[in-house]
Amino acid sequence: MGDKARVVVERFMRGLIRRNPGESEFHQAVRGVAESITPHIVADDRYRKAQIAERLTEPDRIIIFRVCWEDDRGNVRANRAWRVQFNNSIGPYKGGLRFHPEVNLSVLKFLAFEQVFKNSLTGLPLGGAKGGANFNPKGKSESEIMRFCHSLMVEMYRHIGDDVDVPAGDVGVGPREISYMFGQYKRLANRFEGVLTGKGLSHGGSLVHTESSGYGVVYFTQNMLERIGESVEGKTCSVSGAGNVAIYAIEKLNQLGAKAVTISDTTGFVHDPGGIDEEKLAYLKELKGVRRGLISEYVERFDGATFHDDRRPWDVPVEIALPCATHNEIDGDDARTLLVNGVMAVAEGSNMSCTPSAVRQFLDRRILYAPGKAANAGGVAASGLEQSQNAQRLAWSREEVDSRLRTIMRRIHAQCVDRGRRDEEFVDYVAGANLAAFEKVADAMLAYGAV
Ligand code: NDP
Repeated sequence: MGDKARVVVERFMRGLIRRNPGESEFHQAVRGVAESITPHIVADDRYRKAQIAERLTEPDRIIIFRVCWEDDRGNVRANRAWRVQFNNSIGPYKGGLRFHPEVNLSVLKFLAFEQVFKNSLTGLPLGGAKGGANFNPKGKSESEIMRFCHSLMVEMYRHIGDDVDVPAGDVGVGPREISYMFGQYKRLANRFEGVLTGKGLSHGGSLVHTESSGYGVVYFTQNMLERIGESVEGKTCSVSGAGNVAIYAIEKLNQLGAKAVTISDTTGFVHDPGGIDEEKLAYLKELKGVRRGLISEYVERFDGATFHDDRRPWDVPVEIALPCATHNEIDGDDARTLLVNGVMAVAEGSNMSCTPSAVRQFLDRRILYAPGKAANAGGVAASGLEQSQNAQRLAWSREEVDSRLRTIMRRIHAQCVDRGRRDEEFVDYVAGANLAAFEKVADAMLAYGAV
């Protein structure tokens, strides 16, 4: 970035921080994009005059509401919920809902902002949004979860719709919660429409939706490796998280002949040098997905595996690292360790998995580094495909959805290469993803005039 662009970025960030005090995750996400797109804006009078950067970083609207529900002991409980409808320039708002005690407005604004760019990269007509509640689903009974989901929808139903805003799952929200919310929406609106994605297969869900984010990360990694004449096959990989994204990333790694040697949760990580094969993965799906147990139970079951509490898996030597747990889970020290150990590709399954210091090191060392908005776009792409099936009253086969998912991931990769190629060898996937996504959204905003 030139000196003029750097001055513009710093001035812009000062204003953004003043307007959005204390929202550190949102500041971090905006800075990551601003550093890529500002030289472009500085060079193009149309974007500058239309104040595109300022407009792109101000959400269309934020809805905040109270969710009251009754626990199993008859106590009344109150939580706070949000829906951040960030930008609908290229399609109806779309983005997940997160239930987690640490959810706050800064996190949801960062996720919604990233979602605008991610959705643009998919090539589908999807705007960007995110939402959630500071509700902790851990330890809640089935009926408490149901009552919470039903109560949340009593307010949210008036703000969503298949042409308005289509929420999906995220951390703490899977098919069970989506189905409870969809049932309540259907009752209140008296409409059976594609208003939520990630539904069960019996009521409008799509095959491969559950697997799509994890599969998509691995497809993207494979695309990056193939560009340099390499392959996922035979590579040793570390994966963090043990949720939806992590589990299906490992499944696809196995299918492509790679070996995943780590998995983690909020209590620590497991290192299994023998690899997490299909049998072990089936056990993990049951442990984390059904019983909602702790990852440490894995080592009691499988010889050779070790559990490391309160630590992340990044000091295990691997060729590929797939962070799939949460934001900022690879910091500068972790990045240094991964690089010293010879990592060649890092692809973000979680959103903004890497701190700015980690990103800088990966780019400086010219390894294959894919930001979440490109690498984990498979989930929202499959949501878009679910919406298409709902609108057409059709259900595509597993092969058809998977093939479309692979095509979308390949196209996202091609856009990143097109806009991020620095020289014959190196592609800056951060700049590539930001620029390709920005142009589409910004051009639509220009076309609408001052709205
Ligand atoms: P899940 O809730 O299914 O799983 C999250 C996993 O990560 C759990 O195993 C959880 O541990 C672990 N985890 C969460 N926070 C931390 C933390 N602070 N430290 C260590 N481990 C942690 O979520 P998903 O798999 O759906 O999502 C994971 C990430 O991927 C999120 O960043 C999400 O935004 C992103 N993402 C998800 C998509 C989707 O379709 N689901 C699409 C695109 C991105 P524990 O089991 O102990 O709770």
